[in-house]
Amino acid sequence: MKRIAVLLLFMQALFLVAPQAPAAVEKGNDPIVRVLVIDNRDSILLAAKGTYRVYSLPSEKLLTGGYILHTKVMASEGGIMFGARELKFSKIRFTVPDGALIYLDGRSFRGTVDIIKKDNMKLSVINRINVEEYLYGVLYNEVSHRWPMEAIKAQGITARTFALYQARQNKLQDYDLTNDIYSQVYSGATSERWATTRAVRLTLGKVLTYKGDIFPTYYHATCGGVTEDAANLWNIDIEPLKGSECGFCKDSPHYKWAKNIPLSDIEKKLGDNGYKLGKIVSVTVIERNKSGRVDKLEVKDGSDVSCMLTGKDFRRMMGPNDVRSTNFEPSISKEKLTLNGIGWGHGVGMCQWGANGMAGHGKKAEEILKIYYPGAEITTIDKIADKL
Ligand SMILES: [Zn+2]
Repeated sequence: MKRIAVLLLFMQALFLVAPQAPAAVEKGNDPIVRVLVIDNRDSILLAAKGTYRVYSLPSEKLLTGGYILHTKVMASEGGIMFGARELKFSKIRFTVPDGALIYLDGRSFRGTVDIIKKDNMKLSVINRINVEEYLYGVLYNEVSHRWPMEAIKAQGITARTFALYQARQNKLQDYDLTNDIYSQVYSGATSERWATTRAVRLTLGKVLTYKGDIFPTYYHATCGGVTEDAANLWNIDIEPLKGSECGFCKDSPHYKWAKNIPLSDIEKKLGDNGYKLGKIVSVTVIERNKSGRVDKLEVKDGSDVSCMLTGKDFRRMMGPNDVRSTNFEPSISKEKLTLNGIGWGHGVGMCQWGANGMAGHGKKAEEILKIYYPGAEITTIDKIADKL
């Protein structure tokens, strides 16, 4: 024990006399993405199994460091409590050597983390990570690591492009991506698997472009036959996102779905969104768009008061996991609305289960992507670096 203590002291001493190193351990030329991995937390358990350092932000002054850590981090009046020590800053950067892991509440992460004290005295944590290592932690959450390699590779290229597009869009914000379904599901090194990491390496730096620039490469679980035109949902109208025939997702467990929603729930949810209706008597599809998804929907009550909603808004209000897609047929019976639907997700861009089906039929990742993003090209990050 004594020997270890002496060794630790020696390493601490070495560390203290070491010249100040740059805060970021961001090697290589791969772009860095900033992912919000923890938000509004009272305290965080922070751990490292080797050397670590803590810097102030934005001044990047070395505040403390050492060897092997397992400590609680909390907000304090004067800054951030790092174990028993108060650091007089509201933003700090925690780094470990390249290749080592940082543990946040038991989950492991590559890269570095910025811990931020918010005005409400809660903490948020932003993981700054090389885009390739970020993808290691995304793919397992987005597709099955047991799928054919070409399908996982297609997801790798799509997810890389999506991340870089978001990073460019959010340059002036505190972070580029969240770690949930609103960006791409990311859970750090904990979710790395052999096949998904291999797919990232096999597609190293590959991105999708249209007219020489990256675009938001949306994707979704299952289209149900035809993908959606992004212009029907968002303010984006470009050839690769106009929709295409899929026809390869019939084996998806999400191909068909049905959901019963009590009419009283619908009345409440519409009310919460400013649509005050009495007892609902009908829900009618007024218009469908080219892909068959509901464009306009009319909800009527017994005294003929009605409201017109887009399929997108109806799905959002009812909950995107209950109304899995906007491609549904509504019917009312016995105090409930029954929706019989197909597909899962917004339907724009690559259909993940379709990509799986195509890869199973021998299609390569590049071919799959050209089907789902017509007119798009595949290039590498270095060719578009000036645009990132
Ligand atoms: Zn599909």
